[in-house]
Order: sequence, then C-alpha cells, then structure tokens
Amino acid sequence: MTQVTQESLIRSLGITVPTGLWIGGRERPAADASTFDVIDPATAQPVATVSSATVDDALLALDAAEQVAVGWRSTPPRVKSEILRTAFELMIERREALAALITLENGKALADARAEVTYAAEFFRWYAEEAVRLQGTLETAPGGANRILVIRQPVGVCLLITPWNFPAAMATRKIAPALAAGCTIILKPASETPLTALAMVAILEEAGLPAGVVNVIPSRRSGAVTSSLLADPRIRKISFTGSTEVGRVLLSEAAKTVVNVSMELGGNAPFLVLEKADVDAAVAGAMIAKLRNGGEACTAANRFYVHSSVADEFSSKFADAFRSLTVGAGLDESNQIGPLVNEEARQKVRGLVDGAIAQGAQAIVGGNPLDGEGYFYAPTVLMNVRPDSQILSEEIFGPVAPIVIFDHVDDAVRMANNTEFGLVAYVYTTDLAEGLRVSEAIEAGMIGLNRAIVSDPAASFGGVKQSGIGREGGHDGVLDYTESKYIAVTW
Ligand code: NAP
Repeated sequence: MTQVTQESLIRSLGITVPTGLWIGGRERPAADASTFDVIDPATAQPVATVSSATVDDALLALDAAEQVAVGWRSTPPRVKSEILRTAFELMIERREALAALITLENGKALADARAEVTYAAEFFRWYAEEAVRLQGTLETAPGGANRILVIRQPVGVCLLITPWNFPAAMATRKIAPALAAGCTIILKPASETPLTALAMVAILEEAGLPAGVVNVIPSRRSGAVTSSLLADPRIRKISFTGSTEVGRVLLSEAAKTVVNVSMELGGNAPFLVLEKADVDAAVAGAMIAKLRNGGEACTAANRFYVHSSVADEFSSKFADAFRSLTVGAGLDESNQIGPLVNEEARQKVRGLVDGAIAQGAQAIVGGNPLDGEGYFYAPTVLMNVRPDSQILSEEIFGPVAPIVIFDHVDDAVRMANNTEFGLVAYVYTTDLAEGLRVSEAIEAGMIGLNRAIVSDPAASFGGVKQSGIGREGGHDGVLDYTESKYIAVTW
C-alpha cells in the first residue's frame, strides 16, 4: 500500500523520472531484468523500483558513449554551452519537484534539498560559461627555433561514480565540466539515490543533449560493473566521489589500464574556535558546518576544538541551538533534520557515540537513536571527548558534534592534522593574522575562515592526503577532463 502511495507521489511531482537504465538516449531494462528498491529513509518503505545494470549493460553504455564521442567533441563550444545553460534553467524551473525527489530518496530536509538543487544547477551555468573559454597557449621556444603550441583536448569517454549524500550536485559537478570539455559519459549513481540522476539525464536531453552523450546505469553490482568498464581501454577517465575505502580499490583498478583519475573522497573536518573568536558567529557557523545535509556531508565539521577561554560560552550556546532543532520527515517543511540514509549509517553513528561515552564523554544533548519508523538519530553534542576517541578519527556522517577543549593553538593545529584525511577545515577568530597562520598550518585542501560553507561552483573543491586527488568546480574542474597536447611548430 505504501509503495503505491509513494510511487504515485513521484508521478505527482510532474517531472520525468525514468526507472530503467538510460543508455543511448532511451530507457531500457537490465539484460537479466533485475531490479532493486529505492527506500525512503523517513519511512523505511520503498518509493520506486529501479533496473540494476549488469556487466553487459555497462558495456552497452560504453558502446553508446563511444559511438557519439567524436560527434560531441567536435560540437561547437557555443552549442555545448547553450545546452548546459538550458539544463541550468530547467533545473531551476523544476527546483521544487527535484528537491522533493531528493528528499524522498535521500531523506534530507526539504530546505537542504532545495539548496542542493540550486547548487547543482549552478554547475551547469558555470560550465556553460567555461565551455567557450577552453584556452591553449602559444610560446616561442627559448632557443627561438620553433613555437610551442599547447592545445586542450577532451580526455575521452568518462566513467563517473557518485555517492548518495548529494545525488544531484555530485553528479552535475562531474557531468557539467565533462560535457564542457567535450567528453561523453557513463554515470553510475549510488544505489540509495538513483532517481535524481535519472531525472537529470532526462532534463539534459530535453535541453538538447544528443542521445548517448550521457548514459546512466544504476546498479547493485557496482564492483563488477566498474571493474569491467575499467578493464576496457575505451574508458579514458574515472572520476569518483565517495568513501576513501572504495576510492583506494578504484585507484588500484585504474592503475591496470593507467586511466586518468579524479578522486573526491572522505573527510574529517576540524572546526577550530580560537581564543579571539566571535562566539556567536562561531556558533552560527558551527550549526551550518555540522548540520548542512543533517551532517551527511564530506565537508561536515566532524570535530570541534574550542579554546578553554570560550569553551563554556560556545558549548552552552551550541547545545541550546541543537536542543531547538526539529527532527522528522524531510518532506514536512517544519523539520530541519531528516533521517540518516539507512539503518547501517544509523548504527555507525550509534556505535561512535556509545564508544565516546564509554570513554568518558557526556552527551549534553541527544545521544541516542529515535524510536519509530525511519532512520532518525537525535542531534547530539558531546563534551569532554577524549582526544584518542574513535569518533574523532572517523567520519561521523550524522548530526553529532564532539567537542574537545584546548589551551594552546599549536595543540589545536596538531590535533586537527592528526588524521589521514585533509578535505576541509574551519577556523573562527577575529584575529585575521592568526586565522591565516592557522589556515596555512592546517593540512587540508580547503579552509573556511570565519565561513561555514566552502562549496562554490566557481571555486576549486578538493582534498589533500587521503581525501582525494584532483579538483572539481572552478576553472580547474574543466581542465580535469582535458589532456594537454603539445605541438612543436617550425614557424
Ligand atoms: P561509497 O560507499 O564509497 O559509494 C560511492 C559510490 O561508489 C556509490 O555509487 C557506490 O555504489 C559505488 N561503489 C561502492 N563500492 C564500489 C566498488 N567496489 N566499485 C565501484 N563502485 C563502488 O560512498 P557513499 O557512502 O555513497 O558516500 C559517502 C562517502 O562519500 C563519504 O565518505 C563522503 O565523505 C564521501 N563524499 C566525498 C565528497 C568529496 O567531494 N570529497 C563529496 C560527497 C561525499 P553503490 O551505492 O551501488 O554501492
């Protein structure tokens, strides 16, 4: 009964949401007719049944992407640009429907889903602008005998793999620059959230994208499907966003065919509140950096290091803000925090919190899963967390904020850097010189200095250490989908 209601809910959104594989511009079932359910995390009930690609389907998608590769790379930049621009406009026009779809399959609060649609659409707009500005260079060789001409060419057919936490934005952050560069695509979305990716390929083709340029293959057999594609020399690039654990596996597979690689992996962001911080600004920033997407973001503040002189004020204001949060189904406009994506994610959060408490931490707010249907966990603030607690070394991926108090800024920097991850860090202080010194000392690809959101389609997003390789967004993002070719010219 619930399934029927939820499926009709998707129909009532009024947008095209394919549930088959999208290959060569048309929807088709899996070769072995297998499917899997997409679950609404707020109810733990299915919302749709989606085809699950086999290895044969993946190779069919590769054939489709390869057949149109020459046509797409030689399409005039202005034409590519206008398709991307139209896709941006269609996404904005359909923001409400797309946001509801994201909430249905991912669980996040509607306000977060709306923000994601806007952010996701902006990648289409930004790369519509970049598509016509792919510049090369021309120089005279130092000896004067010849010219050095460097041009940028598309890297080739790309395999894009995306996670469930931003089902629209993680896809457009890859699709848009790849299309601008002239590449064709096979996209494998996360199995928790395939519907948004399928809705977006329908939008791209409505915007004028030729059939076969983007192919979408949801699959419950991600390992087998990916391995078969990576073993095929026609795949020239893999761009992966997901966990460091899976990233390591894909890096070793990509090594076999020496495929061009971009990796956007896990994070463990420290949030430093220094002695001279404006505490109210730090609390407001901490709420955003921790709770955007209900804490299920690679950029989520994972560990709070607070100077002892401001620790009481910060933690009591932060805890008060947590207490006032409304938790419940994301589709209900009044809820600020939705469920976690699945029971496994909830059990992971539970284990990390219970472990920290067993080591002496106190939950001053929350500290437990919520009863009833769906995968809800109470927003939680933990005090007196031991610096060696597991919760400080792993991605929590939930609405939980562990606080550690420090006396000396150098200790805070040392603890912030004591991780294999290096995606983003946040620093709050009114002393700009100290803020910049700490920003330079922290090992991360991005710093939010008195700012809780770093994600911006116009900026280079990415991590150092085991948080990734390469950059997405900004001008660098399109370069990641090109190879430079050097032509030595006798003039
Ligand atoms: P995940 O488990 O690593 O999965 C990511 C994607 O990889 C999914 O499409 C998944 O498909 C696929 N996959 C899983 N195992 C695979 C394998 N052996 N071979 C090929 N593909 C495989 O990550 P997640 O749980 O979806 O996402 C959360 C993680 O993503 C967090 O660690 C987060 O920090 C990271 N993330 C990073 C960024 C960034 O920009 N750095 C942004 C967002 C998220 P299935 O769903 O079918 O298993």
